[in-house]
Amino acid sequence: MLKEFKLVDVSSLDTPRTPASVNWELCVICQDRKAERLIYPAASKRHDGGAGYKSLADNLLAFNELGKVLGVNIEGLDEGEGIERTLTTRQAKWHKSCQVRYDNL
Ligand SMILES: [Zn+2]
Repeated sequence: MLKEFKLVDVSSLDTPRTPASVNWELCVICQDRKAERLIYPAASKRHDGGAGYKSLADNLLAFNELGKVLGVNIEGLDEGEGIERTLTTRQAKWHKSCQVRYDNL
């Protein structure tokens, strides 16, 4: 009885299929380095600092349902507890010009 050993190419098997991770130092919407200043709600002195995260999360989800979110890593923005929570925890930042793209339905 000969045992046959086969070389199995495992390199394709153990590549994790996780969504591309988000660079939280960059605009979470475009992930681009632009000259434009980033909006940084976590640094806001105002009481409604967290509101920025909620409205962005709500807008992204609403647009996502319509299939209109292009180039945004929606899966990456939700680490399991929802987008708003993840944005808050990660102290997300974004460009004003990117936000307005998802401001109004
Ligand atoms: Zn941007």
